Amino acid sequence: MKKRIMITGGAGFLGSHLGARLLEEGHDILCVDNFFTGQKRNIAHMMGNPNFELMRHDVTFPLYVEVDEIYNLACPASPVHYQFDPVQTTKTSVIGAINMLGLAKRTKAKILQASTSEVYGDPEIHPQPETYKGSVSTTGIRACYDEGKRCAETLFFDYYRQHKVDIKVMRIFNTYGPNMHPNDGRVVSNFIVQALTNQDITIYGDGNQSRSFCYVDDLIDGMVRLMNSRDGFTGPVNIGNPVEFTMLELAELILKQTGSASKLIFKPLPQDDPMQRQPVIDMARKELGWEPKVSLEEGLVKTIHYFKSIL
Ligand code: NAD
Ligand code: UDP
Ligand code: UDP
Repeated sequence: MKKRIMITGGAGFLGSHLGARLLEEGHDILCVDNFFTGQKRNIAHMMGNPNFELMRHDVTFPLYVEVDEIYNLACPASPVHYQFDPVQTTKTSVIGAINMLGLAKRTKAKILQASTSEVYGDPEIHPQPETYKGSVSTTGIRACYDEGKRCAETLFFDYYRQHKVDIKVMRIFNTYGPNMHPNDGRVVSNFIVQALTNQDITIYGDGNQSRSFCYVDDLIDGMVRLMNSRDGFTGPVNIGNPVEFTMLELAELILKQTGSASKLIFKPLPQDDPMQRQPVIDMARKELGWEPKVSLEEGLVKTIHYFKSIL
């Protein structure tokens, strides 16, 4: 059945892939974005489609539209960008969530929140199951994002209990792929752009910190499965690839795949940078029948191909 689906942050990296996937399924898409980190290039191929509509709007302001489903992705995701205007970052997560939940309450739309592994902070247990409550600084430079996302989760569960809003909460772990902004600032795009343009590869700290990288197609599949999951299943559910790499291993892999002669240079580790990150995905396997299929090696080939085409 054709649904009216709103995607906030629809011109961003994940939002643009989600829009393309849902358009392909025949739905009517309303892309809402203030273009803080989103790019017109990401959605240009959908603009001529009569089922695709773009609205320039900031989710910290109320929005009155009629929709059946809402994917709430609006929020800068890269540390460089969310730390540029930290007050706006918290407003986007918190006031944005209130407005979108208010909209969901009025229209009885189902609403999915793009939460994050950052709610676990610099984790004391490894890997991280959904039951882990996290170790997050309330005062550090990452707090605007981490605490904003934590408060958004709280709002989602209170609208669920208090107003019976149909919610789905997804904790996304590091994801990469085509449509990332070349100046996004996250590690995969930084290393690829540096390798392709013969600049030094910037390793923060000693490079032994780890992350688990999920290819975007896998992530979007998990997101759509969560939206369509059984009634009453709210999450929060981890979606990510449990295979963990250090930043040194990632750099070596990208150098090998690009054949680049770039050198590694070491820069200071940013404040509160988590040492390790790996999702437990048992809940996603059981509830959504989901697990990632694309290895880092395969995903990097596609991502490098994309950056070659735009640089
Ligand atoms: P992105 O920066 O590419 O996309 C975010 C989009 O939101 C951009 O198009 C931006 O212009 C828009 N936006 C920002 N503030 C807005 C506002 N106030 N009103 C309207 N639009 C606004 O980032 P992404 O990687 O696509 O992330 C999408 C969502 O997924 C974010 O909520 C992010 O926190 C979450 N997430 C992503 C990852 C990841 O690894 N990509 C990991 C965890 C969580
Ligand atoms: N809101 C919105 N669109 C709607 C309905 C509500 O943007 O279609 C906003 C509205 O600005 C409100 C917020 O969502 O402040 C929360 O709505 P809710 O109904 O929960 O609270 P109230 O309107 O009582 O403050
Ligand atoms: N990082 C790095 N070089 C870069 C960008 C990031 O070594 O040019 C490191 C960063 O310090 C962190 C890891 O890579 O330890 C992942 O960073 P990213 O910003 O991609 O995601 P997050 O820290 O939010 O997981």
